[in-house]
Amino acid sequence: MQEYDVVIGLEIHAELKTKTKVFCSCKNEFGAKPNENTCPVCTGMPGALPIINKKAVELCIKAGLCFDCSISPYAVMERKNYFYPDLAKAYQISQMVYPICVGGKIQLRSGKVMRLNRIHLEEDAGKLTHISRAIGTLIDYNRGGTPLIEIVTEPDFSTAEEVDEFLKRVRESLVYSNIADCKMEEGGMRCDVNLSLKPQGSSTLGTRTEMKNLNSFKSVTRAIEYEIKRQTEILKEGGRIIQETRKWDDAKGKNMSLRSKEDSQDYRYFPDPDILPILISKDDVERLRSQMPVLPQKRREIYVEKYGLPEYDAIILTSSKYISDYFEKCLTIYNNPKKISNWIMVDLLKLVKGQEEFVFPIREEDLCEVIKMVEDHLINKNVGLDIIDEVIKTGHKPKDIAKEKNLIVIIGEEEITQILIQFKNENGKVIQDYLNEPSRVIGFIVGHVMKKTGGKANPNLVKELIEKLYKNRQ
Ligand code: ADP
Ligand code: MG
Ligand code: ZN
Repeated sequence: MQEYDVVIGLEIHAELKTKTKVFCSCKNEFGAKPNENTCPVCTGMPGALPIINKKAVELCIKAGLCFDCSISPYAVMERKNYFYPDLAKAYQISQMVYPICVGGKIQLRSGKVMRLNRIHLEEDAGKLTHISRAIGTLIDYNRGGTPLIEIVTEPDFSTAEEVDEFLKRVRESLVYSNIADCKMEEGGMRCDVNLSLKPQGSSTLGTRTEMKNLNSFKSVTRAIEYEIKRQTEILKEGGRIIQETRKWDDAKGKNMSLRSKEDSQDYRYFPDPDILPILISKDDVERLRSQMPVLPQKRREIYVEKYGLPEYDAIILTSSKYISDYFEKCLTIYNNPKKISNWIMVDLLKLVKGQEEFVFPIREEDLCEVIKMVEDHLINKNVGLDIIDEVIKTGHKPKDIAKEKNLIVIIGEEEITQILIQFKNENGKVIQDYLNEPSRVIGFIVGHVMKKTGGKANPNLVKELIEKLYKNRQ
């Protein structure tokens, strides 16, 4: 029985996070009234002249820096000519021969490297809404002229899982770097899947189909699995795959032919004469590189290797840049990664549960103060949680709240240490006796500390500290 290898390449579109559109100064926002954000340029009026949004070019370069692309010193915007009602000018301004970013790669968890072919800048089209035969179709050009990057990969994928991991990595990096929001449900990130089969081990690629505009991770996975099955069945029956564009219907769980590539038009790309070539200096690139945050993948590595956290913690802590930055700020205040991680993962995330965009209701220094009190045995964990509630309500400092409310029932490490040092300075003979025969004297010293603290010290902690302080100082 002939077996087949699956070959997949991706084209990913992401809307850039700019205030204005890419070739005019209309607002770039989601959810405005139909055609509110339009002008002669983005509605394609004859003679209207485009300008180019520097910020969009910069975000495209930053996307390239996320994925190790080389940034071209010279890039050109070109016209891709085709007619469709959502594209008022009858051409899309895109890039062909000289894209802004070339090459690049993303390494998956398995170690497999997925190569990028390029990342280029282009504009989005408007949005059509088909109402009915009688009423017809409505056009909203608000989205027309929204800056997009298109990330094109090499055909390096062979499973839906690899594609899924890759897309999540792309989204995560773009969101962290403030390049794009990648809200798939709003069409902020879309993926086309090119897929073909070839006889196992063969080095020539088979004929591919392209599935357009998949806009959720789940539908990408389902669409890939469906298409692998469909092509396999055709080939096993001795049929041949037609190069075509297929549309995925998520509700029906299947795809159907949209148009055949064999009669697809020639786009007649040529450099847009209204837009000068884009010159990108090394200094520009270095300036943008200096603005890049440490990416989540790198942070996870540091959390596991340097801070000794479990992979699970690292994944949750880097699930947003906000959480990750918060965690790292805490570490600069109190260097106890695992404890801080536990409090954030269990207790703080509970406080903001269900909120999509949140800010933890307690500042890093206050959280650390509470954790430290618990670790020093000054209070127990439940009291710590009560204090956090109180900090949120009153804005007071945790230590003050603890004192005010008389919550510190147990004397902490620092204070016991002080008592023991004083004891040592004043009772040289007892210390000598302790060093000669610890078990005979330790009870006496513990008793002394208990008396001094009014019985509020934890005897086990006292013993621990006696050993640490006296034994090690011979
Ligand atoms: P086009 O512009 O016609 O869509 P490209 O050559 O730019 O064609 O390829 C688009 C995408 O298709 C890329 O992601 C590429 O990796 C992928 N691709 C090309 N050939 C194949 C193939 N035989 N099987 C699967 N994917 C392919
Ligand atoms: Mg294509
Ligand atoms: Zn406009």
